[in-house]
Amino acid sequence: TRWTPSEDRYEKMPYRRVGDSGLKLPAISLGLWHNFGDDKPLQTQKEILRRAFDLGVTHFDLANNYGPPAGSAELNFGRILREDFADLRQELVISSKAGWDMWPGPYGFGGSRKYLVDSLDQSLERMGLDRVDIFYHHRPDPETPLEETMAALDHIVRSGRASYVGISSYSADLTARAQRIMRELGTPLTIHQPSYSMLNRWIETPSPDSSGPAQGRNLVQTLTEQGMGSIVFSPLAQGMLSDKYLDGVPEDSRAAAAKSLDPEWLSEENLEHVRALNEMARSRGQSLAQMAIAWTLREQDGGQVTTALVGASKPSQIENSVAAIENLEFTQEEVDRIDELAVD
Ligand code: NDP
Repeated sequence: TRWTPSEDRYEKMPYRRVGDSGLKLPAISLGLWHNFGDDKPLQTQKEILRRAFDLGVTHFDLANNYGPPAGSAELNFGRILREDFADLRQELVISSKAGWDMWPGPYGFGGSRKYLVDSLDQSLERMGLDRVDIFYHHRPDPETPLEETMAALDHIVRSGRASYVGISSYSADLTARAQRIMRELGTPLTIHQPSYSMLNRWIETPSPDSSGPAQGRNLVQTLTEQGMGSIVFSPLAQGMLSDKYLDGVPEDSRAAAAKSLDPEWLSEENLEHVRALNEMARSRGQSLAQMAIAWTLREQDGGQVTTALVGASKPSQIENSVAAIENLEFTQEEVDRIDELAVD
């Protein structure tokens, strides 16, 4: 029998405007970097995506290289789209990216027009789509002129391959430069995807170059000035900002797999801080994961992150993470206490 989504899926989730654009994203979005490759049962993948959508998570974030193997997350996602979400395409915001290594030879990575356009065509084919909603340049490429990369993004929108474009992991100065080019081309960047969590606060650090286009301002301030929204990745520091590592490393965890989460990060010193944060979360009536997500969404420096981009290895995790929306408020005392405990 066919899956039908829950009717009350739009009742709880807040949808937040992305910068000055007309697009809105859910306060919590789901990323498919891990857990959607060929190493995970398709049924579990389906259950995570169904649960997310039932809870109002309308945005799924992919990239050309997600797997393993690279490309398999888009293939698996495409299959699930056809089987479960065939009539729901318009209710979804689907993103992909190119920038990291994808295929052999000189055209399979970086920021050239050649790579970006060819890679997006492959992504569309893998997912069975005519167009993505958002396409990103995945990381800055010092070997390609910024003008070429931005012209490629402009072309990608004009040719109908993407509705919006963004950048990931660009510094505040590079973001301001990129947006200046995009405004001239007539396709302003809508969104930035930086890493951000209580253990990784680089977006709050002012640009060291007071004569650069960001003029000593941090990324949060720069994005507000440039009319861009933001979607922050790894808000749980890959799971470290949860209670899961407090009593050792569970077998089915990302740290045990030791692929992208180095077990060495789980030092006694870090765990001390995580324990104290865990106590604080409890006093707010939240899990640590929920507090960590809510914290990334708070107002700061006259700006605000649009959406927190989480991962999930099972349906109960996305359920737990989405419940962060039940308490997004922080007192000044709580903010100050987190500043003491949460240092990267
Ligand atoms: P998170 O920081 O949310 O880490 C996700 C992991 O945390 C899960 O796999 C799970 O670990 C654990 N977890 C999730 N929810 C809970 C919960 N409620 N309670 C306890 N543990 C929990 O984000 P990711 O690092 O997965 O990144 C999220 C997305 O961001 C990616 O899928 C991708 O879309 C994007 N991204 C983008 C990058 C870029 O360069 N632009 C780089 C990296 C990510 P476990 O598996 O151990 O169960």
